[in-house]
Formats: sequence, C-alpha cells, structure tokens
Amino acid sequence: MGPSSACFVVIGAGGLGCPALLALAAGGATRAVVVDHDRVEAHNLQRQVLYDVGDVGALKARAAARRLPSLHIEARCEQLQVQDVSAFVASLPAATVVLECTDQPALKFAVNDACLAHDVPLVIGAALGWAGQALAVRRGHACYRCIYEAPPQQAPRCDEAGVLGSGVGHIGMLMAHLALAQLQTDDTSAGQLWVVDLLRFRVQRLAPAARPACPAHDFPLPAREAAPVPTTPGPRA
Ligand SMILES: [Zn+2]
Repeated sequence: MGPSSACFVVIGAGGLGCPALLALAAGGATRAVVVDHDRVEAHNLQRQVLYDVGDVGALKARAAARRLPSLHIEARCEQLQVQDVSAFVASLPAATVVLECTDQPALKFAVNDACLAHDVPLVIGAALGWAGQALAVRRGHACYRCIYEAPPQQAPRCDEAGVLGSGVGHIGMLMAHLALAQLQTDDTSAGQLWVVDLLRFRVQRLAPAARPACPAHDFPLPAREAAPVPTTPGPRA
C-alpha cells in the first residue's frame, strides 16, 4: 500500500509532530488526522515549523489542519483525553498509521495499548536535549510497555532539560520515515528501538525482547534473547 492510500494520525502537533507532518507530506501522504489541545505559542515557533506568527493563540490542531492542504494533505483536527484513547483508535479508518508525538507519558502508554488492541501500526517518539528515541510498535514485537512497563512517577520536563529544535526535528522526521515504512509488507522495523545521540551523532538500533507478562498484548510472542535497553523512560518532546 502506498502513502496516498493511508491515513496518518499525528497525536501531538508540537516539536515532533510538525516536522513529522512535513516529512509525511514529502513522502506522499494525502490524509491526516491531527490531535492536539494546546495552542500555538510564539516561543515555540522555532521548532513547531508548521506554524507562523499569524497562528499564535490558535489551537495547534486547527492551525495544522489549515496549513496541511497547501501541502496536498487533507486534514481534520481532534482533541483527545487519555480515557478516550481506546475508543478513538477503534474509530480510526482502515489503513491507518498512528504517530505518538506528545510529551505526555500516560498518553504514550494509552496509545501503545490501544494500537496493539486494535492492531493499528504505531510509531512512538521522544526527544529531549541531545537525546532522541523512536519505536515502531506492532503485534508480535516488543512494545513501549514491554520496554518501560509504566509511566514514570516523575518524568524530566522539557523546560528543565531543554529541547533542541533541530533535535526534535530530526526525531520527528525519523518517526515519519518509520510510519511510511509500516505500509511496506517487507518492513522489518517493528519492535526496534532507535536511540539517537544527537550530540555525538551516534545511532543505536536496539532489539529489545517482548515481555511475555506485558499486559498490552496477550498473543504469542517469538522467543528472543533480551537486549540491553535504557532503564528509564525515554526523553520527551
Ligand atoms: Zn508489550
């Protein structure tokens, strides 16, 4: 299936979601759903590259849906609460790929669980400071909950650890690339955790083992050796 036949659902239209949407447009996407409840702020414009000063104060999802038709993407906007994620994912059209681009750990876990439950391909990403990560989630492979188990009690805050605009741009584009790859029948990226050191230009592609006890999936898992992965939840958008 080609990108023009798919619907791309981008949850979080900020520093990761904006470059991801631009890269999806470059990759031939024609349909998107943009999910966000925040408004465009002037001090974030440098990394939220879909917007300009005229959008300040507007809902990001609405501003993105206004901009995307100029990139040949037909878009609609949504808002989403954690408790509604499962019903939202269940309502998505066939041939959908979800990109989780928020900085909200609880939402990341809820989207992971819902996409596995409804067998919807998902890419989860995060970036903070000089570090970034991306993971393609599919049934039969390690998922976000296999790796991190539960949302952290205390996650690092973007305003404390800093967000590098070019860094989140890099990870957002990687996420879009992985999302486009999910449409290929011979794609092998599912379950692989991309860990990117944006300062030293090192990229690790880890293959964590799926946890048999992970409650996000109750289908058979292939037996695999565990691989080392970071022990704390990844950096955020
Ligand atoms: Zn899992």
